[in-house]
Amino acid sequence: MNPILACDDSTRFAIVIHGGAYWGAEPEPARRTTLRKVAERAGRWLKDGAPALAVVEEVVVLLEDSGVFNAGRGSITNLAGDVEMDAAIMDGRTLDVGAVAAVSQLKNPIRGARYVMKWTPHVLLSGPSADDFLAAGGLETVDRTYFHAAKPKPDFEEKGTVGAVALDRCGNLAAGASTGGFTGKMAGRIGDTPIPGAGLYADNDLVAVASTGHGESFLKTVLAYEVAARMRFAKQPIEEAANNAVFETLEATGGQGGLIAVNSLGQTVSVYNSDGMLVETFTSESVLANED
Ligand code: ASP
Repeated sequence: MNPILACDDSTRFAIVIHGGAYWGAEPEPARRTTLRKVAERAGRWLKDGAPALAVVEEVVVLLEDSGVFNAGRGSITNLAGDVEMDAAIMDGRTLDVGAVAAVSQLKNPIRGARYVMKWTPHVLLSGPSADDFLAAGGLETVDRTYFHAAKPKPDFEEKGTVGAVALDRCGNLAAGASTGGFTGKMAGRIGDTPIPGAGLYADNDLVAVASTGHGESFLKTVLAYEVAARMRFAKQPIEEAANNAVFETLEATGGQGGLIAVNSLGQTVSVYNSDGMLVETFTSESVLANED
């Protein structure tokens, strides 16, 4: 990726990406390998001065296209047997946010989210109208044979929503997330992923957050914003805010899952109360350490 607006005000940058909370057995190794490769690429983009918002979008595109996550090509189906995807992106500079929900034709729902943010006066577009509008705007569409779920296999259980948070060298934060939703969801169900404050949040003065897990619980607790609120009002450091959000607020509702976060100092955190969560982190420190 060529950075359009290079950021080189600071040497500090950080990216955290996740491939979903999981329950039971360790996910297939392809997911961990893919996540690692994408995180390394994103780390290099940030090092070269790419803006956080663009990096988050491109990271999510790569994960959607990989087909090994529950997003984009690898999306699971709802109870009616259809793919309906949710995605969102948020810019920490302005609190601008764009999202799509229950779309089934976009190749990359995260591109739809960015388009909504940039070119419409709205935050969230949903369903076939969103597909049609975004296709007319030039975004790539696919038919249902594109999705892995169109070819019946025995393993169409929850495979890992994806999300990314980044700090760039201009000090800007961004967050993005994309999902096919939660296993067993009804047709038309929209989860937390495209809802600002629940599935993601980004504010340059505080933190960028992306969450994953049982979306209804994250919607009830507005969990991504909970991290920011604890930092803003209770002055909690990022790690304490994230831990309290998951182990106090989320658990109080019986909710399960986790979140990733980064603040403007480049401090990163990942926390979950599910059996596991796939996470990769790349910071200026780790990139420089690898070059030694
Ligand atoms: N939160 C997503 C949803 O409920 C699923 C996930 O993160 O695994 O749609």
